[in-house]
Amino acid sequence: MGQYTSSREQVVSTCRALLERGYLKATEGNVSLRVPGEEAFAVTPSSYDYAKMRAADVVVLDFEQKRLEGTLKASIEAGMHAAVYRERPDVNAIIHTHQAYASALALVRRPIPALFDEQVRFLGRAVEIIDYAPSGTSFLKKNVRRTVTSGANAFILANHGVLVLGGDAERAVFNMALLEKVALDYLLALMTDDKVRKIPAPIREIAFAKLRGDERKLEKQLVAARAAAAVAAGEAASAAGEAPAETPSPAPSPAAAAGPSGAQLAGYAISAYPDVPAVSRRLQALVSQPLRPIRRDAMAGYLDYFETRCRRSRELTDEAGELIPGGVQHNLAFNYPFPLAIEKAEGARLWDVDGNEYIDFLQAGGPTVLGSNYAPLREKVAEVVAVSGPVTGLFHEYELKLAQLVNRLMPSCEMFRMLGSGTESVMAAIRAARTHTGKKWVVKIGGAYHGWSDQMVYGLHVPGTWRFEAKGIPFGATARTREVYPNDLKALRRKLIENKALGGTAAVIVEPIGPESGTRPVPFEFNARVRELCDEFGALLIFDEVVTGFRLGLGGAQGYFGVRPDLTIFGKCITGGYPMAGGVGGRRDVMLSFASGIGGKSGERAYVGGTLSANPLSCAAGYFAITEMERTNAPVIAGRAGDRLTAGLCDIIRRYRLPFVAYNQGSIVHLETAGVMLLDLKHPLRLAKELKPRKHMMEETGAAYTASGMITLAGSRMYTSMADTDEVIDDALERFERVLASVEGV
Ligand code: PMP
Repeated sequence: MGQYTSSREQVVSTCRALLERGYLKATEGNVSLRVPGEEAFAVTPSSYDYAKMRAADVVVLDFEQKRLEGTLKASIEAGMHAAVYRERPDVNAIIHTHQAYASALALVRRPIPALFDEQVRFLGRAVEIIDYAPSGTSFLKKNVRRTVTSGANAFILANHGVLVLGGDAERAVFNMALLEKVALDYLLALMTDDKVRKIPAPIREIAFAKLRGDERKLEKQLVAARAAAAVAAGEAASAAGEAPAETPSPAPSPAAAAGPSGAQLAGYAISAYPDVPAVSRRLQALVSQPLRPIRRDAMAGYLDYFETRCRRSRELTDEAGELIPGGVQHNLAFNYPFPLAIEKAEGARLWDVDGNEYIDFLQAGGPTVLGSNYAPLREKVAEVVAVSGPVTGLFHEYELKLAQLVNRLMPSCEMFRMLGSGTESVMAAIRAARTHTGKKWVVKIGGAYHGWSDQMVYGLHVPGTWRFEAKGIPFGATARTREVYPNDLKALRRKLIENKALGGTAAVIVEPIGPESGTRPVPFEFNARVRELCDEFGALLIFDEVVTGFRLGLGGAQGYFGVRPDLTIFGKCITGGYPMAGGVGGRRDVMLSFASGIGGKSGERAYVGGTLSANPLSCAAGYFAITEMERTNAPVIAGRAGDRLTAGLCDIIRRYRLPFVAYNQGSIVHLETAGVMLLDLKHPLRLAKELKPRKHMMEETGAAYTASGMITLAGSRMYTSMADTDEVIDDALERFERVLASVEGV
């Protein structure tokens, strides 16, 4: 019959299996199988009776939907199947049916949460709803493409049925059966009017990790199959005495080959998502209690360390105070009792100018997932700079290499533009969002930090404080910025409705793990819900991945949460800690709003610039840093160090019966003692009364950690890196224990 007979036969036998089990009825639904080693798939014909179907009726299409074999009209959902295969290299079989139980959930838009661990193990963390779009349209294809990046294997199509994926046909049929069961269970449970209990988040994560493990194996098999097919094609050609012809379906480019699961499979730093309601309750309890600062006698000892052991730092920064406002320029540098001058950085450690050694949990504010001043990276950067110098003002190959890497790891970044900082990138992204949508409003989450541009110094650090920090910024600059309280989806919806009446929202911008790098953590589903709201109101979703991009895993927060933003902000991590670190990536149509080069700057385009942006030094540093992170699995190793540190801190807090709260999102570790960041304007009296004393307690605690040989971020956050071995973490825990044992009342 042809070269694809076996794939076509398999489609028929899969349909038979589904028919026998009652999952396919009459002519509804469609089924396809990927042709091994090719960018092609065999799919059922349109509106055809499954009971009568023969292999010859099955159609084989390539991913452009060009017919390779078969004469009948292919299913109208063939485009959707192609989109899934492109997006998910781990998927080799797709079933779409109008399965009744899940279809009922599709009508009431009830995604199925994690009810059973076997469900998560095979279907994914949740059975999400794919937004409604009419059958066979490119809108449906787009919605499907965006949602399947979550890595799950079962989805409910709004008003339409279900979509089930599998690594092979058997697994897909099995997944279909599992979905049928889970959907029925969930419907029955919903009918009781009682609360439906989900499995604990850690169990869900363990089960999901197994699913990812399976995908990894399948992806390897697929790569091997592609390689074998390419070799076979080459051999056939040379046997015929020809140069190997281009295969009809060329091997996918690295970017396409890896797809979203390239990143998804690489692993993430978060081994178990925090129990957000429990953490939030404990944080609230912390700020409702009186302060528990360090005992005065102990504090005097810590301050004495600075007086006696940090003399040169004091001299230098005092002198700098004459010329540099505040004597120190970096936002994250501790000023209490005075700033330290650092001379040397390496791996997990820092040394000040007086020769004191510290464990470095600041890691420059997060970018150095490989550890500080990582020698292999430094050497590679030096090689490039030795040839091209740090900047020429013209194009350099590493710009392309970095853009390709970002695109491979975060497929939502169909295009990428390098800039100078996170702040600049937020400015640029908002400008592009406004240019593209023609709307003006921008909504942020209260307390979140998106850099210091005029329009974003709004609701900074403390939710509900609007222009509290906006000294020197005219009202007009923040006139179209709005904030909503963290984790309040209803308030976000209200704000979007309000803005709609006033011309519409251009973008909603979020830090995907929660404001201030997760200081107020978001529930796992939060970002997906924000995505839905953005789609409903036609606003773009901007993920600020300045901290999470690559630190959480090579797929960033978007890969971890399985949510595809329209635009992504990059900052520090994009250069692995080297200067001029910023960038925007995102949807091609939105990214094309940016002007570039001399000819591109007039007309309708959004103006962006930067003499030193996208220079060879920054681009090469970013390319080599991220490649090295991928090779070494640095984000996951740093995440394990974060887990160890957090577990130790929780143990100390429990043993000393302290009200403090420790939790982590992988290598981002929070240790709240003063809780200054957790105050808000919902409790204005408490805010007015406690802001200063809590801030001072935070400074004191930070100084005590420093005097004990550890540099932290604001005395409340620690970034771990690949250099944090178990020995480093255990050493740090002993030091933390000494400080926490000197708290009042212990
Ligand atoms: N967004 C977030 C989430 C950040 O954490 C930061 C910096 N810490 C920024 C934006 C601003 O980046 P930059 O300092 O590079 O301007």
